[in-house]
Amino acid sequence: MNEDQTSMHHKLLIIGAGASGLMAAVTARDLGIDTAILDGNDRIGKKISMTGDGRCNITNESTATETDEAAALLRKYHGGQSDFPLPVLRQFGIRQTIDFFHVLGLPLTRLKEGFMYPMSLQAASVLDIFELALEDRSIPVYLNRKVVDVTVSKEHPRFTITCRTETEEQVVYTSEYLFLCTGGLTGQNAGTDGSGYELARRLGHTLVEPVPAIVQLKVQYPHLKALSGIKIQGQAHILANGEVVRSESGEIHFAEYGLSGPPILQLSRKAAFHLARGDSVTVSVDLMPGRTEEEVVEFLEMNWGTFEHRKVAESFTGFIHKKLIPVLLKEADIDQQPDLLCQDLSWRTKGVFYKILKRWDFKVTGTHSFENAQATAGGIDTRELVADTLESKLVPGLYMAGEVMDVDGDFGGYNLQWAWSSGYAAAMALGKHIFK
Ligand SMILES: Cc1cc2nc3c(=O)[nH]c(=O)nc-3n(C[C@H](O)[C@H](O)[C@H](O)COP(=O)(O)OP(=O)(O)OC[C@H]3O[C@@H](n4cnc5c(N)ncnc54)[C@H](O)[C@@H]3O)c2cc1C
Repeated sequence: MNEDQTSMHHKLLIIGAGASGLMAAVTARDLGIDTAILDGNDRIGKKISMTGDGRCNITNESTATETDEAAALLRKYHGGQSDFPLPVLRQFGIRQTIDFFHVLGLPLTRLKEGFMYPMSLQAASVLDIFELALEDRSIPVYLNRKVVDVTVSKEHPRFTITCRTETEEQVVYTSEYLFLCTGGLTGQNAGTDGSGYELARRLGHTLVEPVPAIVQLKVQYPHLKALSGIKIQGQAHILANGEVVRSESGEIHFAEYGLSGPPILQLSRKAAFHLARGDSVTVSVDLMPGRTEEEVVEFLEMNWGTFEHRKVAESFTGFIHKKLIPVLLKEADIDQQPDLLCQDLSWRTKGVFYKILKRWDFKVTGTHSFENAQATAGGIDTRELVADTLESKLVPGLYMAGEVMDVDGDFGGYNLQWAWSSGYAAAMALGKHIFK
């Protein structure tokens, strides 16, 4: 270290003042551990302020009533090791999250489908509450400290952390324990640029190649422009090389680039992974998910029989979004015959309609980038972490929490829930280790 460098030592240093880092800091401090946080931004929780359309969807209560809440919650998470999140979710689930924020002074409220938000419906309140919590506990927060290197030694101090300040100076901190809470690759203007992966790699960890998740899908379809702006209720299946790999229901949005809406966002991680593997990926939309294929055929036949004197376009009125009808006619190659009557429909044309109402296929060409994504699928390989403590198996004293590792949650508050749960579990594990 040269003379210009500052050195600061803490028992625990947390890299990242995001959701998991803040949770870990408060928990560790409450256990009596000398804790400080480093972040490259000029304020804490920049990412949190962007969440939930500015309202912060903190968690989701919909699985909280299940007998085994943690097992139910586990189904909302994905990654290379499917059971990995379970021990953490058992320690700190939805009830504990709601109680934690209540105790911090932030009551939550439930909106649609179990989505929980701060009662103020303002993401800024979450930051304000954490700022107050840090202040109450006198937890030092070193801002504008971009961590550029971490080294580990067998001697005291164990970790040496080199940061770059906003004026390009180098500042060095040391600690006995280190938490890597640096997030994934989404919202890069909020400081999450993947530099945490590089730090972990330097310490010997492996990266499961990250892909964007909870993101819009780009599709190849000739009539996308005509569909743009339409929202329909339906079911979407994602197919990889012709096999259905996941299905979701809800409001599907058509856009000029492709598809969006909650079910598509939910399916996007599967699409991204299969695309990265070079698989052929398709989204198949079911416009009438409440009926089987046979029931749809029966329903259409009945409709066309009862109203045989009506034009084909009119026969869809009332059960299909009006703006979809011209596209259906194009698909069936009868858009140039606007006066064609139901009684004159050929079997071939009817077959096109049966198929499109139940299995309307869109070839997926890509996803939008990390810039538009809400989560990162992939990250530090969880096989290198102990599942119930989140301590590194390679570097004793190094813990990870949040999105930096290969765990991602569904749309609806589950990613922040993972940040809260894992931040808590890592801090508790360290507490047990220190005070055992
Ligand atoms: C637009 C958007 C909306 C979202 N909405 C929701 C939602 O409503 N509900 C939900 O559950 N999830 C939502 N998410 C996902 C959620 O925000 C993340 O999963 C969660 O914030 C991850 O927490 P984390 O602690 O792992 O990382 P982050 O909260 O991303 O924090 C990481 C922190 O580490 C810092 N950092 C990174 N590298 C370094 C370094 N080298 N040196 C110093 N500091 C560093 C960053 O500056 C950042 O402050 C949303 C994401 C986005 C992008």
